[in-house]
Amino acid sequence: MAFRIAINAGHYIGTPGRRIPKAIDKNQTREWTLNNRVVLGVTQGLKAYQGYEIIRLDDPSGKKDLALKERTDGANNFGANIYVSVHHNAAGRDGNTYNASGVVVYAHTSADEKTKALQKTVYDCLIAATNNKGNRASPIAYADFHEVREPNCPAVLCECGFMDGITDGKLMLKDKYASQLAQGLVNAIVKVGKLKPKPPPKPPAKPAKIKVGDKVRFRGGNVYISSTAKSASGNKGKATCQVTGIAPSAPHPYHCIGGGVYGWVNAADISANPATAGKPPPTDTFMPGDRVKAASNAVWVSTGKPIPAWLRALPLYIRSHVSNGTVVVSWKKWGAISGRTYTKYLKKY
Ligand SMILES: [Zn+2]
Repeated sequence: MAFRIAINAGHYIGTPGRRIPKAIDKNQTREWTLNNRVVLGVTQGLKAYQGYEIIRLDDPSGKKDLALKERTDGANNFGANIYVSVHHNAAGRDGNTYNASGVVVYAHTSADEKTKALQKTVYDCLIAATNNKGNRASPIAYADFHEVREPNCPAVLCECGFMDGITDGKLMLKDKYASQLAQGLVNAIVKVGKLKPKPPPKPPAKPAKIKVGDKVRFRGGNVYISSTAKSASGNKGKATCQVTGIAPSAPHPYHCIGGGVYGWVNAADISANPATAGKPPPTDTFMPGDRVKAASNAVWVSTGKPIPAWLRALPLYIRSHVSNGTVVVSWKKWGAISGRTYTKYLKKY
């Protein structure tokens, strides 16, 4: 069963009075904006974990004020396992600044042990991340707030420092403080929900390196007369063909022959043939038309007899590739006598 987290950024952007006083921030940043920044950080931070579901209960655009009852009903309908409400505190709400600082985490006045444990974990994690104990005498606090009373699950309301506090007000304008708060909440949720990190993403399988002589699958596409041709000389359908040349950084880097394809093609249009991918490279890379010389110990496949000296003195040509290790050779480029021999006795020249 997934661990269900209900979270919300307190208020909405238009809530009157909830803002940093002008003396600290000429923009008078709204409380919802600060709360939202933390909530976004939490949802982002939790993405590294698995085994949970999360619901956000305020309007993520900040435009609509969702009633507290809607938020807690939403959490209860969701079957939340914990409820976390993110707020920023105020000492006066009269536009003045105060010597008030520090994080406070509220739970309900009749909180059970499970709720108290959540409250302590959240507070400890927030302090570990922000070091903002400030001057709070009772940072673990209890109140009869709707948001901590109505959820059916352990619920906390975090006051992440004082908007009208001389030091806190400046501190919370910094993104760094918001991300510390978010990290603190993520750590607490992970701990309470016993969430496991997501396994690291698997590295993408390396495409098999294509070499001259490889049989490849051509997906169908343009064929070019040269590796750098501006326009295609034709468009061919799916085929199995052989790579007969590679121009590594050219726009159409593979020269392919076979299955109606004859010319240069784009890298994206070919893939290593699954039948040969991952197998050791063939020992021979002879292609029809290659000029070769037979070694003195060269023999015919059919008879096992040596290739006569007079034939070894002549250039031989590869007529066709028979199988890995053997080819049909002839002593004239096309035609005349021919026979199969082992490629290990042949040398291109
Ligand atoms: Zn608030």
